[in-house]
Amino acid sequence: MKPLLQCEHVTVQFGTHTVLSDLSFSVEAGDYLSVIGKNGSGKSTLIRCLLRLCPLTDGRIGTAEDFSRKEIGYLPQQSGIQRDFPATVEEVVCSGCLGNHSFLPFYTKKDKLEAEKNMHRLGICQLRKRSYRTLSGGQQQRVLLARALCATRKLLLLDEPVTGLDPEASVEFYDIIRELNEQDHIAIIMVSHDMQKGLEDAKHVLYLDGDVQYFAEIGEFRQSDIARQIAQEGRQHIHLREVYYDRKFT
Ligand code: ADP
Repeated sequence: MKPLLQCEHVTVQFGTHTVLSDLSFSVEAGDYLSVIGKNGSGKSTLIRCLLRLCPLTDGRIGTAEDFSRKEIGYLPQQSGIQRDFPATVEEVVCSGCLGNHSFLPFYTKKDKLEAEKNMHRLGICQLRKRSYRTLSGGQQQRVLLARALCATRKLLLLDEPVTGLDPEASVEFYDIIRELNEQDHIAIIMVSHDMQKGLEDAKHVLYLDGDVQYFAEIGEFRQSDIARQIAQEGRQHIHLREVYYDRKFT
């Protein structure tokens, strides 16, 4: 069976700057792919390519016969403006259905049932009449996830979804994503600069870092030099933070 998504030899250049070079990877039905890399490594560019918002300089992105890239449920990174969006929870969730029938400018009964089902799935029915901007960061992410689920049954694309959440809300969010993957068999592409937490539930990893692009099954990735280097950098980071706090507070 063909993978849901297949990137083949994808290259993206902006002028003379090559951001992605001959990149190949695939996402199977029910997969969980973590895309990790430092800032500036091309993660957002890749997302835009998957969503058809950025043209490829070379290569192609194919899909399975029964899947179209219009069916990707996308959870964007939240900006300050989005956090302040003046709509009710049910309006925000329902808006996720619009891409399913762009020719109809209103919500159908089926849309409303879908929104209801996804609010129930994410445990936010009691918030339905609340204004989105009055919610906590964790509640807002649940609302946006319910919205993304209205657009898909097969693949969620999540861009830095725990940015700005407190540790407890982050853990809860990762738990929900794991459940959607394991119980609902929804494939996940999780883009993150957090090279530790972003990997915990992954089945596959795509590591981006300028010239280095590495796609592997999670077990293989954990044995790789890149994983060792990331772990070492993580330890150095913790050590530097401890030294900083020691100097500052002792
Ligand atoms: P990340 O999401 O990993 O932080 P990006 O994909 O945003 O990385 O950016 C990767 C590189 O591509 C950066 O050097 C950025 O400046 C450059 N870049 C991204 N989009 C454009 C664009 N539209 N035009 C020119 N350069 C761009």
